[in-house]
Amino acid sequence: MGNIYEELGVRTIINATGPSTRLSGSIMVDEVSTAMKRASEHCVDIAELQAWAGGVISEITGAEAGYVTSGAAAGLLLGVSACVAGLDPGRMNRLPDLTGMKDEVIMPRSHRNFYDHAIRAVGVKLIEVGIADRFSGAGVRDTEAWEIDDAITDRTAAVAYVMNAHAQPSLPEVVEVAHARGVPVVVDAAGQLPPQSNLKRFIEEGADLVCFSGGKTIRGPQSSGILCGKWDLVSSAALQHLDQDVYAELWDPPPSLIDKERLPGAPQHGLGRPCKVGKEEIVGLITALRIFVAEGDEVRAERWATSIRSLGEALEGLPNIVVETLINPGRPVPMLRLKLDEDKSGMTAVSLAKQLIKGDPCIHPGTGEMYEGELSFGPMCLRDGDVEAIAKRLGEILKG
Ligand SMILES: *Cc1c(COP(=O)(O)O)cnc(C)c1O
Repeated sequence: MGNIYEELGVRTIINATGPSTRLSGSIMVDEVSTAMKRASEHCVDIAELQAWAGGVISEITGAEAGYVTSGAAAGLLLGVSACVAGLDPGRMNRLPDLTGMKDEVIMPRSHRNFYDHAIRAVGVKLIEVGIADRFSGAGVRDTEAWEIDDAITDRTAAVAYVMNAHAQPSLPEVVEVAHARGVPVVVDAAGQLPPQSNLKRFIEEGADLVCFSGGKTIRGPQSSGILCGKWDLVSSAALQHLDQDVYAELWDPPPSLIDKERLPGAPQHGLGRPCKVGKEEIVGLITALRIFVAEGDEVRAERWATSIRSLGEALEGLPNIVVETLINPGRPVPMLRLKLDEDKSGMTAVSLAKQLIKGDPCIHPGTGEMYEGELSFGPMCLRDGDVEAIAKRLGEILKG
């Protein structure tokens, strides 16, 4: 079958940036899209399907419970809703009115980012802690665990933690102070794969809830994600997410996800209802997750390295650039770094990026170091033929 976007009159791009939402996430393998199509051919009870998916997620992450969300950001919203409302259906129904509930979430100041809209949407106030003067060049420190402890009060519903390689303070330190005060820790690990050991790591380090994106490295549906962690929190998230348009007498949720006996009654549609997930996404995400785990870091890294090496070879001899392939076992995702000689070429890396994006084919490079005269090319969303097309287009531009 041909390119559907050609039929639709929508241009496709060569994505060397990687699986970003703006560029439509990753590319699903046939097994995943086939599973989604097959999922679309029958109706099921969504709660039962989520309970099954949760079982697979638990097994893979080591968490007590798991759930499929519509993305990592949705996982933050559901997770914080769970920390605030617990297993109290009255509270669930009242959100985001937090009258009488814990209404603050603590976050190290250096972790703040605009995905925290998903946290603030629950109605909580974000309490920023610490000063990250290591970023201003004025100092060396970041938020420290004792400062989080210092900020915890009886209004603290959770500590939110955004994981990345340089995140401070360390997760175990944050967990230690939060748990000592009975406060759960919610981890945004949206893009923290590979290594796939991270699927287990943050749970092992004591996080109460962890969110991953399904549409990034896992190569699941673009609008999917994982929420995993403590059973009662995941259960609360499920209760605030699942459609509840059902007579109480007929409500019979799967016990592995929702313990009806522990609830005074069934909540209505919750705050998380707009983040709904279809059966196709649930089946697609779990299929992709199983494939991701089965492939393993080494085979995946070699698959990626192969396309980066061939891009490096294809760029050999082009004028006014120095190309470096960054492939090593310590590096989760290999990439190619292109350093432009801005004086000799008479153009800046910014204008080179613009020409790549505006040209035909449309090519999106990595632009994180653009203002330092560098572009990068990542392997995660490249298709067959893309390496040759990138080399050809770069040749056209650089040779004038
Ligand atoms: C990508 C990302 C998100 C959002 O993930 P979605 O799955 O698109 O909702 C949230 N937080 C961080 C740090 C991210 O990188």
